[in-house]
Amino acid sequence: MKHIILLGGSGSIGRQTLDILAAYSNKFKLVGISLGDRDIDYNLDVIESFQPEIVCLRTNKDLETYRSSYPEVTYCVGDKGLLELASYPIKGVLINALMGSVGLKPTIEAIKSGKNIALANKETLVMAGDLINELVKTHKVKLLPIDSEHNALLQAMLCESRKDVLSMLITASGGSFRDLTRKQLEHVTKEDALKHPNWMMGEKITIDSATMMNKGLEVIEAHHLFHIDYDKIKTVIHRESIIHGMVTYVDQSTKAILGYPDMRMPILYALSYPRHYKLDVKPLNFDTIGALTFEKMDFDRYPLLRLAYEVGVKGGLFPVVMNAANEKAVKLFLDGKISFLQIESLVYEAVNAFHTTIEKPTLEDILETNQKIYESVGI
Ligand code: MG
Repeated sequence: MKHIILLGGSGSIGRQTLDILAAYSNKFKLVGISLGDRDIDYNLDVIESFQPEIVCLRTNKDLETYRSSYPEVTYCVGDKGLLELASYPIKGVLINALMGSVGLKPTIEAIKSGKNIALANKETLVMAGDLINELVKTHKVKLLPIDSEHNALLQAMLCESRKDVLSMLITASGGSFRDLTRKQLEHVTKEDALKHPNWMMGEKITIDSATMMNKGLEVIEAHHLFHIDYDKIKTVIHRESIIHGMVTYVDQSTKAILGYPDMRMPILYALSYPRHYKLDVKPLNFDTIGALTFEKMDFDRYPLLRLAYEVGVKGGLFPVVMNAANEKAVKLFLDGKISFLQIESLVYEAVNAFHTTIEKPTLEDILETNQKIYESVGI
């Protein structure tokens, strides 16, 4: 029985993770979970079904209701509560499905307390990849990606040597505006942006897919996960989202991992690795798929992807700045305060204005820069 702590239990990945845990209650036991404060009925259902030992609530607004309904549960609250939950003294796996930079500190606490990590929170590696890799080594834990592209690369790398890799390729659907020109992007709305053609995801990541920032964050994530240079990480537009990742080896053979877009697949594989467990999803049917298509990535069409490669190579605090500026810009767009294309300009401005002499940032440097940039970005 694997003991599981799930951060971000109310989000899209969190809910799909709970589906998996319910289907495999003979293999996984949910010990702790963090929940949002938007839907108390959902939260109470989760506590009833999974009987966790510890629950972290976003705010203490309904704390008394939870306490009287489930007095045997230990409760903690807010960002501090996330750290308490992450370091809860069990061996097992922490699934980090939090959205955004708030996910970094809990990942660190979980590693320090000896838990293996299944990571859906890509910001953890974008902001602090070097630090995280050091900690993973020191504390001898495993770090496995839930992000579908990286999860595919993980599968493709099973029984392979890093030395034999020529390049890794992550696919991009192109997001909700893939058929629009840059001119046409001037007047798109939030509602248009939130209509992703292939994946059902949270709002932030759906916007990041439309700007291709998501792929940029994933390039940096792949660099840290697989210890591979940026010039060996490729991206391509693949509209069907059926191939998720490919690895080309030095003999020019290429392995690809395929499956219809369904996050339950990578979630389960991060928990069952290196085994595969049976999963009730739509089976791939090669009689009906028809063609798989690929289009060269256009960095002029998607300047934030270009920027991600640049800040990735620069390293240090630059990815932190890009990520914080993007997080804030996307929030401003979702709040109706800026236009879609202003997301890009705000992120570029923040990165271009940033100067630092720190090459190997500490966690404090990272958190301070993250907060400073987040607060400064605006119109
Ligand atoms: Mg992804």
